[in-house]
Amino acid sequence: MKIQFRTHHLNKLYPLRISRGTSTGSDNLYVGLTMDGITGWGEMSPGISEKASTPQIGEDALKEFWQPAYGQLSIHEVWDKARRADVPSCALAALDIALWDWFGKKCNQPLYRIFGLSKKMAATSVTIGINPPDVVKERVPEILERTQSKFLKIKLGSPEGTEADQAMFEAIKEVVGSRKDLALRVDANGGWSPDEAIAMMKWLADRGVEYVEQPLKEGEEKHLPRLFENRPLPIYVDESCRFSENIPNWVDSVDGVNLKLMKCGGLTEALRIVATARAHKVKVMIGCMSESTLSISAGASIGALFDAIDLDSQLNITNDPCSGATLTDGVVLPNDLPGHGAVFIDQEEEN
Ligand SMILES: [Mg+2]
Repeated sequence: MKIQFRTHHLNKLYPLRISRGTSTGSDNLYVGLTMDGITGWGEMSPGISEKASTPQIGEDALKEFWQPAYGQLSIHEVWDKARRADVPSCALAALDIALWDWFGKKCNQPLYRIFGLSKKMAATSVTIGINPPDVVKERVPEILERTQSKFLKIKLGSPEGTEADQAMFEAIKEVVGSRKDLALRVDANGGWSPDEAIAMMKWLADRGVEYVEQPLKEGEEKHLPRLFENRPLPIYVDESCRFSENIPNWVDSVDGVNLKLMKCGGLTEALRIVATARAHKVKVMIGCMSESTLSISAGASIGALFDAIDLDSQLNITNDPCSGATLTDGVVLPNDLPGHGAVFIDQEEEN
């Protein structure tokens, strides 16, 4: 099985600011695996904590790891080998997605069907980054109009403090008014201290927020039991949970976990995370990094497994190189092409 690479720079429509910084775009790596005249494709959105901050680091790691004979192994065997070889999780995700895409194409079946799933899934949230109140007042109506979304995920944990968080939240509340069909979720990306988290969760619960994600910084989990006790809102962790093996650590102090393909190394481990979480009665959400329609389509292929869905990065890209899963009535719907169903727009035109 031969490996190939291509890189695309993705521009963001709106710069995304979270507690840790701002992103205006990303250089994503695309990995192709070819055997028997079939090519499967995967995508890596680079990440510092995923151990590959540039496409070159991801490409170098995969070139060092990959051997053509691995095409004869099962996908689980390749995944375990790559994990043991310490391949960065986002590069492993690209490889794993390409392997599953290849397998789906070989079987001539869409991945959601190979996994024994239906296309039915929850509607996706759309993300509102940290911004001054006047900016969100302008932006939120445009995003809601364009996406028809029923869930807003509001990024808080502003470096300017919880007063800035409250001012931004109030501005959004003012814009969406009393819309009963719109649920508000909050992701602090670890931007609060334990005391701030306790105060903000109460404040947000009084304002009808559905749940809070990653209230505390990764590494500060010892304070989670204090937050969890008498919590006014369900708590999901994201940065604190990367692989299925992390889940047993948090089962007594969280309501749910947010998995991302880039963080866990692709679909193979995502399935393990879902199984582990369900065994512990922990809820599961699927989120994304700065991914184009390719990785989002891979995520949508297992979308039926999740309590909450956050597959919206492609909606904020102005030059998506791929087409695939589409946004239909707020749901990221897989198509019926074999594999994950995403194709490069330039290759589609050639065919
Ligand atoms: Mg998050």
